[in-house]
Amino acid sequence: MAEHVLDDPGEVEPTAPLPVNEGFTKEQTLFLIQQIQLEIGGEGPATSFDDLNRRLRSRKKSKKVLWEEMAAKLASQFGEHFQHEKVCRKWLTLTEGYKKVKEYTALTGRGPVRFQFYKEMDELVVWCDSPPSPAPVDGAPSPAPCTSTGLWAPLSRAPSPAQPTSTFPPSPASSAASPPPVPAPTRPFDTSRLRKRKRKVDLEDTREDDLLAYLESSDGAAMAASQKRHEECLSEMKALREDRRELLQLFSRMVDKIRLKKMSKTQRVGEQLPEDVGTDDCMASYTYTYSPDLLKDQVAFITGGGSGIGFRIAEVFMRHGCDTVIASRNLDKLKEAANKLSTATGRRCLPLHIDVRNPETITAAVEETLKELGQINILINNAAGNFLCPASALSFNAFKTVMEIDTMGTFNASKVIYEKWFKDHGGNIVNISATLGYRGQGLQVHAGSAKAANDAMTKHLAVEWGPSGVRVNTLAPGPISGTEGYRRLGGPQGEARGAFSSIPLQRAGNKTEMAHGVLFLASRVSSYMTGAALVMDGGAWLTSANDVAAMLGHWSIEARRDK
Ligand code: NAP
Repeated sequence: MAEHVLDDPGEVEPTAPLPVNEGFTKEQTLFLIQQIQLEIGGEGPATSFDDLNRRLRSRKKSKKVLWEEMAAKLASQFGEHFQHEKVCRKWLTLTEGYKKVKEYTALTGRGPVRFQFYKEMDELVVWCDSPPSPAPVDGAPSPAPCTSTGLWAPLSRAPSPAQPTSTFPPSPASSAASPPPVPAPTRPFDTSRLRKRKRKVDLEDTREDDLLAYLESSDGAAMAASQKRHEECLSEMKALREDRRELLQLFSRMVDKIRLKKMSKTQRVGEQLPEDVGTDDCMASYTYTYSPDLLKDQVAFITGGGSGIGFRIAEVFMRHGCDTVIASRNLDKLKEAANKLSTATGRRCLPLHIDVRNPETITAAVEETLKELGQINILINNAAGNFLCPASALSFNAFKTVMEIDTMGTFNASKVIYEKWFKDHGGNIVNISATLGYRGQGLQVHAGSAKAANDAMTKHLAVEWGPSGVRVNTLAPGPISGTEGYRRLGGPQGEARGAFSSIPLQRAGNKTEMAHGVLFLASRVSSYMTGAALVMDGGAWLTSANDVAAMLGHWSIEARRDK
């Protein structure tokens, strides 16, 4: 049971169930409220039931005396006998009703209901506030003047007894027993809204609990209606979604047809494109663009040469007379790749374990290379790690790792090989970069930053090591088919759907095209070139949409799939 306001156990048993109305009429109820107001009136009008009760509690007067006085005033006003216990219980009922409204709204937290409750309680109490003003009881202090128009407006603002009868219908009980016609309140209780409700309520007999229950049930009806509407909306949405799906399928079939037409056109031009295969296998055939002995008897050290672009670089180099070292972490993968490469080209390929983040492993591999192959003419810094990730979701460690592999790894391999061989014999370094940092590609802050650092490193090392006969250049690929990055963009289906339509050359590049760019930079063909960046991206970075919202969508799908 809710906490009771009156704490004198001699008057009322606080744990007893509260009688609801004690048979009070509205007029008697409002008379009681007014008298209580007058009782505490010296401190100014109360602002709420809570305030009123707080003040009543703080008074020195015995509660029993208070209720006896109230009973006497009621008896004198309405000409019937009132027990002081009954008056006290009536007051508790009022207080309890008010509290219940508050508790209910606090519990349910329903905005509109809450608003509605208070509004209606307000109206009820305002009606009680501005009702027929009884003659002040002798000796009672006058309420302090107040300008507030709130819930507990001062009694001095109540209408005079000369005003017309209340618009509130008098109860049969009160009309029988009570004194002459009750003057109308200044603000009659507006029942129109309540009457509009489905359930008719006789306000004359409505008690606080009834009002509460009524409001709850009417709210239930409103909720049921809104639930029904909600379900209707859902089924409408489902139907719309179906339509939309069908339209999208139709649209994507049309786009596919157009793309395939376009691609077959590109293919005609592409008859001059170099051969490639989408897997980490050697090409079945190869058409030479450069002289087959362009790299004859040279040795290339290719980091990350066991897969993707690195594998194809190794193959193309070997087809041009070069021996290679392919070096990375996964030795099994490297051995398999080296076997394929040697078989296809007839050149030597040495698979060596390194972790580019660890200079000692590079040193060991370089020493092994010099022992086995006698020299190193070319270093291809191709090893890298990448993934799509928005900066906000990127861990500090992930950023650090990419920097360590891409940037530190490039520096480590360059420095070890420079010290061990290039310083005295000259050489060629090609760093495989990317265009990510050119326009701040979304979801690529880690790789873009690392590659931008490498682009700077290319220039710094070109300047410092040029005098030793070392050329240092960069190749920046765009999206390249047959790689993990390409697969993540949807592969050939993605291409057919137009994933690359914003690229000026309307397609992804292939690995052999990249290998040819690297061959150019690493060979005598570019003998007067150092500190330069060769962008081979079909013009992609110039026109890339860099649509962060779309990329985020793609990323979240990928992230969910990876889970
Ligand atoms: P890939 O197939 O994943 O090749 C990356 C290679 O790096 C792997 O063979 C990997 O071998 C090696 N590697 C990774 N971490 C290493 C580490 N700590 N130490 C030594 N080796 C490590 O990728 P890709 O797509 O061919 O990319 C090759 C290069 O092109 C990268 O520099 C990349 O940034 C650049 N690029 C690619 C694209 C594209 O569309 N694919 C576009 C722009 C730029 P292990 O796992 O055995 O270590």
